[in-house]
Amino acid sequence: MNCAICGKRKAVYIARVEGTELEVCEECAKYGKILKPIKKIVKKVVVKREKPEAEEFVVLDYAKKIRQARETSGLTQEEFANKLNEKLSVIRKVENGELVPSLKLARKIEEKFGIKLIEMQSEVSGEELQHEKTEVATLGDLIEIKRRKSH
Ligand SMILES: [Zn+2]
Repeated sequence: MNCAICGKRKAVYIARVEGTELEVCEECAKYGKILKPIKKIVKKVVVKREKPEAEEFVVLDYAKKIRQARETSGLTQEEFANKLNEKLSVIRKVENGELVPSLKLARKIEEKFGIKLIEMQSEVSGEELQHEKTEVATLGDLIEIKRRKSH
C-alpha cells in the first residue's frame, strides 16, 4: 500500500490529515497527526502437518510367506492365482520376489490363507527421531567449543 498523499512511498502510518484518516508514508505523516503505525500484516503460515497415519506396507519376506501359504494349502501356482482372481504371471513374480504385491492383493492373501503380510509403520519413528539426534549432537558440539575456548 502506497502513501495516500504522495502515492510514491510506502505508507507506514495511519495519520489524521485534515480530519481524514489516511495511510501515509513517513514524510507525509508530518502533514497530519500520526494515529498509529500500520501493522504489518504477518501472514501466519500454519504448516499443517497431517498427522501421518500409520503406514501399511507389505512385509519384506512376502515371497517366502506366500509360497509357504500356497504350498501348505496344497495348491499349484495356477490354482492359487485362480483363488485370488489374479493372473498366474503375477503370482509367479510375487513368489519369485520380483513383484511386491499390492496391499489389496496382500490383504486378499492374508484373509484367504491366514498369514500376515501387511505391517504398519508410523512415519514418526524414522525421520523425526534422527532429526532430534542431529540437534542434540550439534548442541553438544557447541558446548564443547565453548569449553575449549574458556580454557
Ligand atoms: Zn507520502
